[in-house]
Amino acid sequence: MRYISTRGGAPALTFEQAMMTGLATDGGLYVPETVPTLTTDQIAAMAGQSYEQIAFTVMRPFIGDTFTDDEFRAMIDRAYAGFGHDARAPLVQLAPNHFLLELFHGPTLAFKDFAMQLIGQMFQASLTRSGERITIVGATSGDTGSAAIEAFRGLDNVDVFILFPHGRVSEVQRRQMTTPNEANVHALAMDGDFDDCQAMLKDMFNDTPFRDGVRLAGVNSINWGRVLAQVVYYFSSAVSLGAPHREISFTVPTGNFGDIFAGYIAKQMGLPIADLVVATNQNDILHRTLETGAYTKEGVTPSISPSMDIQVSSNFERALFYAYGGDGAAVAAQMDDLKSGGFEISQGAYQYLRDTFMSGRASEEETSAAIKTYLAKHGELLCPHSAVGVHVAEDHLGATPMITLATAHPAKFPDAVNAASGIKPPLPPRMADLYDRDERVTRVANDFDAIATLIKERIAL
Ligand SMILES: *Cc1c(COP(=O)(O)O)cnc(C)c1O
Repeated sequence: MRYISTRGGAPALTFEQAMMTGLATDGGLYVPETVPTLTTDQIAAMAGQSYEQIAFTVMRPFIGDTFTDDEFRAMIDRAYAGFGHDARAPLVQLAPNHFLLELFHGPTLAFKDFAMQLIGQMFQASLTRSGERITIVGATSGDTGSAAIEAFRGLDNVDVFILFPHGRVSEVQRRQMTTPNEANVHALAMDGDFDDCQAMLKDMFNDTPFRDGVRLAGVNSINWGRVLAQVVYYFSSAVSLGAPHREISFTVPTGNFGDIFAGYIAKQMGLPIADLVVATNQNDILHRTLETGAYTKEGVTPSISPSMDIQVSSNFERALFYAYGGDGAAVAAQMDDLKSGGFEISQGAYQYLRDTFMSGRASEEETSAAIKTYLAKHGELLCPHSAVGVHVAEDHLGATPMITLATAHPAKFPDAVNAASGIKPPLPPRMADLYDRDERVTRVANDFDAIATLIKERIAL
């Protein structure tokens, strides 16, 4: 299994190389040369299996000979052993034919733990084998950073630096990044918003001397390994509702398009998914793009669902690649146009996206109202991101079962949840002392040279 760049101008890599590299040298994202498929029998056999067993079946065809079957099974087991729920990704019923997939039972209470915990295992195995040391730099609007720190803290051959927008993450998110006290963990509070952090990260990857000098590796949602790990819960949840003998739809609270893109891959692999619905908050660039065919940057307005506050949705490039039938040059041209504000998707590609994804948006008021209603009428206290999801899902309920992804635990966003519902959700007991732990954070300007120097000093180059 080889991985190719969405921009067609970088060498094809193995799974291991693509995972360790993150962004391709031509600025593109890695995708598998062909998407492996599972037979109806293989999918049917998942009924009643553990999450870990399903994870192995789904991911094994993608990893080539990077790990042996036994190694890979052991990594999967270790990755999910620390979750607070035996089912890992339990389904609860909200209403007739509407289900909630709880993806928040990992160590940092958001779905990003599913991918990051596994990536941590895979990086460690790969680095131990090669004897290399790497520097992971991540940009986060809140949840990626804490999930990365949790996955890499204390590992021998990794330093992890996380850039988050100063003052724009929730206190729980910030504390999850600033309280781990291992020496290899570096939380950096940067001036600006999430897109500034993400742009800084891209600049670091595009600066070859820096990139090579610190042996930079990325774990943002552009990392193929992340997308892959997220494919699994589409299978586990759909099978528990009757797939492959029955079609299932999904609504996904969306920001960087990683999670919903994993759903697209699941469908390519043969999972009978009817609708894939992109749910955005007021930063609705993806909804507007799917409505109009024009991707136009308009700035970010901070919302109560901050992990979806984006205007450049990096994984959307992967969807474009498939919409353009694998034409890397076409994708590269669109990404060039994006630098000057936006692009028009050509007719055929736009039609493909319209046929593949549905979309909707929730305003701030609608998000708060959903939190309140779902507590009162369905007995579920939702985080604001999940509330965006259920609000949008309501427009798509019908004969096909709908699964809305609950991407974070309500206790991760207590202020917004409290304002909407009057209830301050408590942290799960296993992290109840988070507010008492000491914080360690470095404030940095939105300045490439200053941040690059700081990183080099910290890793003593
Ligand atoms: C990251 C995140 C999202 C958005 O997921 P993408 O893969 O970036 O689209 C939604 N909700 C929560 C809680 C998140 O942490």
